[in-house]
Order: sequence, then C-alpha cells, then structure tokens
Amino acid sequence: MRLRFWLGLAAVATIAIGSVVGALIVRSNDNAYFNRAQQEEAVRSAHQAETTAALSIGRLATAATFYRVEDSLSRHQFEGVARSLLRGSALSATALTDARPGCCQVVLAASEGGTPAKRGFDLGSDPRHAAAIRRARDRGRPAVTPIAPALIGPGSGLVVYHPVYRDGAPTRTVAQRRAALQGFAAGSFRAPDLVAAATAAVPHDVDVQLLENGDPVIGPDEPLDDAATAPVRVADRTWLLVVHNPDRPSVSLPILMAVLGISLAALLGALVLIWSHNEQMQELRRQAGQDSLTGLKNRRRFEEDLRTEMARSRREGTGGALLMLDLDNFKRVNDMLGHPMGDRVIGEIAEVLRRRMRETDVLARLGGDEFAVVLPRCDAEEARGVAEAITTAIREHVPAEEGVPAITASIGIAMFGADPRTSFKSVQANADTAMYAAKDAGRDSVRLYACGEGEAGADEARPGSADP
Ligand code: GH3
Ligand code: MG
Repeated sequence: MRLRFWLGLAAVATIAIGSVVGALIVRSNDNAYFNRAQQEEAVRSAHQAETTAALSIGRLATAATFYRVEDSLSRHQFEGVARSLLRGSALSATALTDARPGCCQVVLAASEGGTPAKRGFDLGSDPRHAAAIRRARDRGRPAVTPIAPALIGPGSGLVVYHPVYRDGAPTRTVAQRRAALQGFAAGSFRAPDLVAAATAAVPHDVDVQLLENGDPVIGPDEPLDDAATAPVRVADRTWLLVVHNPDRPSVSLPILMAVLGISLAALLGALVLIWSHNEQMQELRRQAGQDSLTGLKNRRRFEEDLRTEMARSRREGTGGALLMLDLDNFKRVNDMLGHPMGDRVIGEIAEVLRRRMRETDVLARLGGDEFAVVLPRCDAEEARGVAEAITTAIREHVPAEEGVPAITASIGIAMFGADPRTSFKSVQANADTAMYAAKDAGRDSVRLYACGEGEAGADEARPGSADP
C-alpha cells in the first residue's frame, strides 16, 4: 500500500514538474525560433541595403570611367550621364568635382528634386566630406561620408566619392594616385531611402533603426530591446541595422500549460491522498475484525457476520448452522511444549479449518482454543456432516512439530433461521450447550442442539432434546 502511495505521489510530482519543464521548453523554443527569425530578417534587410548601394556605386564607377576618358566634358554630356545615374539607381544627387590641391570644388551637379550644389562649391570644406575625399583619393576606391548634410543635393545622407584619375597615368602607389587625381564622381544616397529599400520586405510593424558608431541616426532614438542586428557595409564604412519585431510570442501559452499541469497534479494528488486514506481505513477495519494469531475473523467480526446471516436466513426463510468448536485438553499442549508452541498449533488448526470452508462460510477464532463456523443455507444433516468432517480432519492432522500430542476438537451445532424465536444470543448459547455436551460425551465428537432442549446441553443420552 505504501509503495502504491509513494508511486502515486511520484506520478503527481512527475506531472507537476513535467508540466513546468514542458512550459519552460516551449517558452525557450518559441524564443529561440523567434530570435532566429528576427536575426534572419535583420541579415536579409542589411544585405538588401548593401546590394542596393553596391549597384548604385557600380554605376557611379561607370560614370567615373566616362569622366576619365572624356577630356573636355560638356555640360550636356554630364547631364546625360547624371540623368541615367539618378534614374537607374538609388542615388538622389550626383556631382563631378575637380581636384585642385586643398579643395574639391563642384564642376557640375544634378539632383532629383531640390537644388544641386553650385559650381565652385568646395565639398572639402566639410571635414566629414574632406575625410572621405582623402580616403578615396589615396586608396583608389570609393569612400563614403557618415550620414551628414548631402552638400551636392538636398537633405542629409551618405555621399560616395569615386576617384577619377587621369587616363593612362600610373596609380599603383599613393603618391602616384595623388599625382594622377583629376577629380571625383560623387553620388548621394538619402539614408531613409536606403533603410526603406532594406526593409521593403519586412512587416510594417517591425521597428528598424540604423546605428552609426553606436548612435541611432535613422529610426527611434531609444535603444531597441530584444532586437537583432546586422552590419550594413557601404563603400568603406559600416553601419549597424537594428531590427525589432514587436510580435514576440507571448508567455500565456506556456503559463497555461504549466497551470493546467499543476492543477491536474493537484487534483491527482488529492485523489491519491483520498484513496490512500480510504485504503488505510479499510486496512484498519480489516485489522479490527481480524484475529492477529491466525488471520481469521475475530469475535467482533464473527458476531457481525452471524447477525447478518441470521437476518438473511429469516428474510429468505432458509436455515443455517452455527458450529462452536473447542480444542480438547489444549492446556496440556501449552503445559507440555510451552505457550509459543501452543500458538503454532492453534495456527495449524486454523489452517485445517480454513481448507474445509466454502466461500460463503464464516470462520472465526473467538479466543483461546475456541473457534466458530457459520454455515449459511444448510440443514441439520449437512451441518453435522461438515462438523464431523472437521473433527476428522483435526484428528488426522499431523502437527508440523515433533512431540505435539494428537489434537481433537468438540463441536456443538445450533440451527437458526427456521424458528423465528431463535435469537442471536440464544443460538450462541445453544451451540455452546451442544459443544459442552460433546465435551461431556468424551470429547472429539459432535453434538446438535435440538429445539426445546434444556440448559444441561444436548447429547446422545437425551434423544429428543439432544442429537446423537
Ligand atoms: P477442554 O477440553 O475442556 O477444552 O480443555 P482445555 O485444556 O482445552 O481447556 P479450555 O478450553 O477451557 O482452555 C483453553 C486453554 O487454551 C487455556 C489456555 O491454556 C489455552 N489458551 C488460551 N488462549 C491461548 C493462546 O492464545 N495461545 C495458547 N498457546 N494457548 C491459549
Ligand atoms: Mg479447550
């Protein structure tokens, strides 16, 4: 019983812990899946921005090549190049500059909307542009400003400078590149356009931010928590794109799982406790009705069962028999072999009796060497047959221990059910009377109490009142 109780509690604990662990696993899987999706979104968006910028810078390189080979570029030619550049790329303004030492003056400029920079405007006057101009000149590759006023067009954005070297001049070393520098093909991206191109495919409610040296330059000013980041490289500068999806899976499903699991565990726990309590009560009840030495029913339980059988007999109009059995001269066994051995013999006799009983019979040890048997639905002849079989079985029983004298028993029988005047007490008294009559008759015998018999008991010597 205890094992089943602990197994039940273990099952309850397993369900409770399992549901909490399950909820945590679901939560962590949800988070991991969401984080992965958000990170992929950030990387895809950054890649989209880089591709858009790279395509435009590629076209700017084509324009730079044209400027290099065209010795005397007319305004008309520039405008043709600028038009195709602005229409076919993400650039919003473009300019051609000269390369007079110490400055970078605009020669020609065109912009999509707004007024382009005036001829002669020195782009190198802004330190952010000056740094990009120097890098482009010395490295021979496009260089980009931070997000700053565009200067060659309206608004602010990134301006890419592509160096234009004199055609045929050597450009292997920095000195050669400085000497060969003719000017720059400049192109301006509006930063919001670039971010919009990057995030064209992400859902509308996703927050996007562009960080430059850790500071937000596009998007919300506040840092975005639980966001994914990906670098965006344009020419020789890198920004950080921050993507924050507000639709992070809620904790309600895992919490619901855990609450359901714990509730189920609590319910099962309560059932286990109730069941265990009931089992304990049943066990106590069983023990209360059991004889501790033989495991048979005790006197209390016997009396309950006898009352039940008598009531049932009366209801059904059938007869039943009560057999009172007392071992003969049992004191001798105790005296000869000691009380513990006497106990063992009583146990063996109980087993002999148990083997002879039908399922519906009631067998009890009333105390000492006295037993009782209730035989439902039987007549006097049947009861006598059973009693005699019992006395024979006891007589023929060979005790397990050596030296134990032969055991015999005297049995008194009283019938109930047929006569409505037979009370619970009188049937026991009658069986006792018959049993004492059996003792008086020399023991190891059976006597049946007959109706109208006197207190002296039923025996063979008094036919009509005692039954031979
Ligand atoms: P009788 O034939 O007249 O029945 O003689 P008896 O010796 O059996 O005497 P009686 O039935 O009156 O007494 C029963 C004896 O059984 C008394 C006691 O020594 C013994 N006895 C009673 N209870 C126990 C018990 O629990 N264990 C053991 N070993 N002996 C018991
Ligand atoms: Mg006895």
